[in-house]
Amino acid sequence: MTELASPSVTPAFDADAASAAYRNALQVIGAVEPRVADAIGAELADQRASLKLIASENYASPAVLLTMGNWFSDKYAEGTVGHRFYAGCQNVDTVEALAAEHARELFGAAHAYVQPHSGIDANLVAFWAVLAQKVELPALTEAGAGHVNDLSDDAWATLRRALGDQRMLGMSLDAGGHLTHGFRPNISGKMFTQSSYGTDPATGLLDYAAVRAQALEFRPLILMAGYSAYPRKVDFAAMREIADEVGATLVVDMAHFAGLVAGKVFTGDFDPVPHAHVVTSTTHKSLRGPRGGLVLCQPEFADAVDRGCPMVLGGPLPHVMAAKAVAFAEARQPAFAGYAQAVVDNAVALAEGLTRRGVRLVTGGTDNHLVLIDVSSFGLTGRQAESALLDAGIVTNRNSVPADPQGAWYTSGIRVGTPALTTRGFGAAEFDATAGLIADVLAGTTPTTTSAGAPSRAKYTMTDGLADRTRAAAADLLAAHPLYPGLDLG
Ligand code: PLP
Repeated sequence: MTELASPSVTPAFDADAASAAYRNALQVIGAVEPRVADAIGAELADQRASLKLIASENYASPAVLLTMGNWFSDKYAEGTVGHRFYAGCQNVDTVEALAAEHARELFGAAHAYVQPHSGIDANLVAFWAVLAQKVELPALTEAGAGHVNDLSDDAWATLRRALGDQRMLGMSLDAGGHLTHGFRPNISGKMFTQSSYGTDPATGLLDYAAVRAQALEFRPLILMAGYSAYPRKVDFAAMREIADEVGATLVVDMAHFAGLVAGKVFTGDFDPVPHAHVVTSTTHKSLRGPRGGLVLCQPEFADAVDRGCPMVLGGPLPHVMAAKAVAFAEARQPAFAGYAQAVVDNAVALAEGLTRRGVRLVTGGTDNHLVLIDVSSFGLTGRQAESALLDAGIVTNRNSVPADPQGAWYTSGIRVGTPALTTRGFGAAEFDATAGLIADVLAGTTPTTTSAGAPSRAKYTMTDGLADRTRAAAADLLAAHPLYPGLDLG
């Protein structure tokens, strides 16, 4: 057995055993549809060869990944542990109970629901749970129903009308909020009348006094906190005070920074779990688990949250719940705290490296896992910067900046994050070098001119040889920190 000395921030794995497992699996798959087996191998090769700075992505361990490929996938298990609508769920009960127990212990939560298939689903479960628990509908008593899930058709009609009056206050998209926090392309924007809070135009930081004033005026049912692209910590104690003052339920979506909460980098006022009524998350971003969702809540919401399936979710995915149990067990190991701290230290190194090279950052820096670059000073849109960086082998995504003049499609920003490359073993020196590569690409990219003589928002040219030089430098950095060291598909 080759037990590879993995960097202390990544879970060690038996490389010989993992190599044999994947080789055998690919042989079995390839006997049926070789193109799928080939694509799986190609995906590993591509991921190994790219400088992945997408803030929402990571690399799950072989143990987490292998847990998903088995006969749990074949099992129907609607219901909850010990209370299923299908027979023969004893082993699903084992893994769901384990995942929930690990989640409660990891986050110090009173209750954990591990069935949501994704972050969007977790938010939907949370929103319905708050509505079920908090909305006083005459229809509920008239219909004699004890729970919103037990309503008659007539009562549902009344509920739908009443829902039109329910309000959600969340962070605006251009300040870093997420579509599921009450915006129109998502069902939350249809369920709730929404208003959003932004950030201070001068600093880019959350202004809690302004959020309070807005909440007092708007009186939301749900005060939503959490983000996809805000590069700073959020004071959840302050948000809870605001929620209490206006009689709102505080829901925190920690999808992006769950790993920093699990790794005890965000503690005290910055840990959402003791302060929020309900906390939602994904499990696959900084938390480094399988693709999936999670809801944590205080006891008064537990019953409504547990009714997520079939209320708004399809049948549970037992193979993914099993993988969540494995990932949460990994996150409870001391090494995960080291990983979480390294993610933040590396983001600070990346931010400092960019600032030193004259790149402007929203809020001037970071204290979490992501950095938001404003590329407008280079005369570029986010779309041009994203494409030029990709040409140079650096994978990022474009993102709005506050009050973005380029709108949500072209944008003026690039979001970069450290969770994935930190898993690979990158440290501050590698992130500083990465900052140099990004700064060089931005400086060496120029918008082309349209036939009307204006700068294009999509097309660009790059200095001769820049893309190739950057790719070569990125390859050197990556070669020193192989992804899944020792894993050999043969
Ligand atoms: N919530 C936040 C804050 C997110 O950033 C995301 C995804 O990027 C989601 C929810 C949705 O997660 P999923 O893609 O798993 O549905």
